[in-house]
Amino acid sequence: MYKLELEELRRWIAKNNIRKVLVQAPFGLRSLIPEISKYLEEMNVEMVVSTSNTWGGCDLAVNEVLKLGLDGLIHMGHSAMLQTYEVPVFHLECRFSDGIPMEDIVERLAKLIDRGKRIGLAATIQYLDYLNILIEEFKKIGLTPITGSGGAKTRYRGQITGCDYTSIWRIIDKVDNILVVGSMFHGIGAAMTVDKPVYVFDPELNRIRETGIEVREILKRRYAWIEVFKNLKKLGVIVGTKIGQRKIGLAKMIKNILKEHGKEAHLVTIDDLTEECLSNMPYEGYVNTACPRLSIEDQIRFKVPLLLPSETLIAVGKVKWEDIIYSPRYLLV
Ligand code: SF4
Repeated sequence: MYKLELEELRRWIAKNNIRKVLVQAPFGLRSLIPEISKYLEEMNVEMVVSTSNTWGGCDLAVNEVLKLGLDGLIHMGHSAMLQTYEVPVFHLECRFSDGIPMEDIVERLAKLIDRGKRIGLAATIQYLDYLNILIEEFKKIGLTPITGSGGAKTRYRGQITGCDYTSIWRIIDKVDNILVVGSMFHGIGAAMTVDKPVYVFDPELNRIRETGIEVREILKRRYAWIEVFKNLKKLGVIVGTKIGQRKIGLAKMIKNILKEHGKEAHLVTIDDLTEECLSNMPYEGYVNTACPRLSIEDQIRFKVPLLLPSETLIAVGKVKWEDIIYSPRYLLV
């Protein structure tokens, strides 16, 4: 089901003289580890498997490599987000390669997407290979498919992650609607930041969905949390410690803005956000500068607001709600 880029891996091992390596995989790809293990054994490379969670390309077990004195990290399921790392890292992207009949998908999509002919296409790294097939199929039925180049955290044309939709933002003025190939999670993230209809095709579930209703519900809840936040005085500004979530400059800026608006604010660190992390803390609410999706998807687990930086600016009256929603500023500030 997944393509493993083993030839490239072999070259990386040879170039970096890797003898002992850490392998890190997200939950959905852990079943591939025995296959990697066999390959590494053949190359006389000792493997250690990381059990730490990884939710994105921001979340690499570089510290484990350093602590164990290993030669490098094989990180599965995500593409590179940073230019350099403290240790050699190989991103085994594991693109999905199951032969899904695209003609059928395109027919179903064409019935659904009746609001214009120009369709913006984007996909998560696992489904990126589907984009070229979809482009050809859409052209055959008279639609105009468009993809955009990637951004700071996305290396490929048409690629998106849960927090970087640059490839969509770059083309949004040229399309009538957007099709995300990936999960509803990615579709919702896109839909919160653009003012065009966003559809999701999930190849694993073979399901097509529109995101509008869910996004409107999420935004209603976010608005309510902003209102709660306005009356709070003691606040924590969360700084992520994961390698791709360390935005200390942004956290300090937010802390200063809160202080200017008469609030007490401290910087607090988060690795994986759990209920325990925030328990017994002397704060009534938080601003989250780590993974933005913690505020969207994980807010439900907490009794206090976890505002995004953009939402915080709304709460203190520096920007307007209507200028932020359905725009990239929701995630970017
Ligand atoms: S910061 Fe969050 S949304 Fe962005 S890549 Fe990491 S886990 Fe995904």
